[in-house]
Amino acid sequence: MQQPDLATALIAGDRRALARAITLVESTRPDHRAAALAVLEAAARAGRQALRIGLSGTPGVGKSTFIESFGLMLVNQGLRVAVLAVDPSSARSGGSILGDKTRMDRLSREPAAFIRPSPSQAHLGGVARRTREAISLCEAAGFDVVLIETVGVGQSETLVAEMADLFILLLAPAGGDELQGVKRGIMEMADLILVNKADGDLKPAALRTVSDYAGALRLLRKRPQDPEGFPKALPVSALAEDGLAQAWAEMQALAQWRRDRGHFAAHRAEQARQWFEAEVREGLLARLTRDPAVRARLGALGDAVAAGRAAPAQAAAEMLASLGG
Ligand code: GDP
Repeated sequence: MQQPDLATALIAGDRRALARAITLVESTRPDHRAAALAVLEAAARAGRQALRIGLSGTPGVGKSTFIESFGLMLVNQGLRVAVLAVDPSSARSGGSILGDKTRMDRLSREPAAFIRPSPSQAHLGGVARRTREAISLCEAAGFDVVLIETVGVGQSETLVAEMADLFILLLAPAGGDELQGVKRGIMEMADLILVNKADGDLKPAALRTVSDYAGALRLLRKRPQDPEGFPKALPVSALAEDGLAQAWAEMQALAQWRRDRGHFAAHRAEQARQWFEAEVREGLLARLTRDPAVRARLGALGDAVAAGRAAPAQAAAEMLASLGG
């Protein structure tokens, strides 16, 4: 398929075209990059917007189960739902925390759903770029909701929170009355904390965990982009499909409140600026490793530093000077 045809098919909502376009933006081949940029440009001109929802949680809390139940609920309401995974572990270990098992079987069979596993890129920057671009492609393809899923490890949560309009933290019921060692920084990023598995024997523990987190959230500084009562903690059961409609109602209410007050658009504008700057930064770094002369100099100066013949700061200054900086 020629690029203009790919872009046309994508904007017509063709899922195969969407999958191919994402493959194109994941490619590291320079000629693919030019084609990818053309498709991304056409996608941006489509001017469509989805609600971008980031979802994080440690392995086993029920992310797949939640996305399947939640996604099916949205599809049954007539919405089109895309799911993208961000899993930097797949690059490091060759295996992936998110992607191995057959996940979201029922959702993946829905014509109104699109599910894409994490790419195995070597670094977080590569995963970040691909995910940003895949989000734009999903929006251009007419998806109403884009769920961006990540595991609660490393920097991937921050990355996803920064890409999303809303950030949801999924937790399991805690055993005791202690908070589950959720880092304060992660809690501060969350718009909604959903305590999953609020069913059967686990229900009392789940409700206790909800109230623990509700208390902890009340102690956080109020953010200007939040209405009264947010961030919130709620119980859900992905398995029993309980509390999902309420969670969705809260997400919509929060997004609407932010739209009405300009926070939503301001956040998107800031994201666009950050994406642009990240792209420039990564381009510069790529140039460092591509140009053989530059790479040789980098290697030589690195050797000198390692051997104690040059101080790191001085060698870096020399390197930058040689780049014309
Ligand atoms: P992930 O690793 O976060 O994607 O978690 P999974 O969705 O694979 O779920 C991990 C385990 O928790 C599975 O055995 C699920 O059946 C179970 N589970 C997920 N959601 C619920 C729930 O709402 N209630 C109960 N009781 N179990 C659940």
